[in-house]
Amino acid sequence: MPPVLLGAPTPLEVEPPAVLDEVTNLPLIICSKCKDLRIVAFTCKWTKNRGKRFFKCPRYNELEEKRCGFYMFQDKYKQYLKCNASLEYGRTVLEMDSVREVEGIEQVKVGLHDVRDEILKMKLEIVDLKNEERKMKSACVVLIVLLLVVVVGFALKYTICNADHLLQDYRLVQPRVE
Ligand SMILES: [Zn+2]
Repeated sequence: MPPVLLGAPTPLEVEPPAVLDEVTNLPLIICSKCKDLRIVAFTCKWTKNRGKRFFKCPRYNELEEKRCGFYMFQDKYKQYLKCNASLEYGRTVLEMDSVREVEGIEQVKVGLHDVRDEILKMKLEIVDLKNEERKMKSACVVLIVLLLVVVVGFALKYTICNADHLLQDYRLVQPRVE
């Protein structure tokens, strides 16, 4: 098969407009394994690959037999497109309609996955906040105890000083017995 260049003109009647990833401008092809779903692109948020753009089949998150292993980072995906540029084209409009329908459903699923991830993250944050609160509370208790110690210390010192003065006064007013 001759290599097909990216963006090369293909017959109009069968070529739906390419869907491009808004960040990288790379075409989002139909998954070469599922053949009825378009690849979706995301930017890593949480892992060590934070900030990297990756491309995956919407079925990548599915369980077991429905799962699709299509998952590539930007560099590999670009390479893959170079070798498989024809994947995007050669489909009839009718086929594309069914693709869009399935895509719609899968997009919602992907959205749900994202929402679930967000909720998980929020839960973790709440736990963190609770821990912080607990730490703050113990810090407050320590502070109050310290304050009490200082106050009691001062009060004791004051009382002892007073007692000394009283004793001295008492000695002064006592008539000396010779
Ligand atoms: Zn797939």
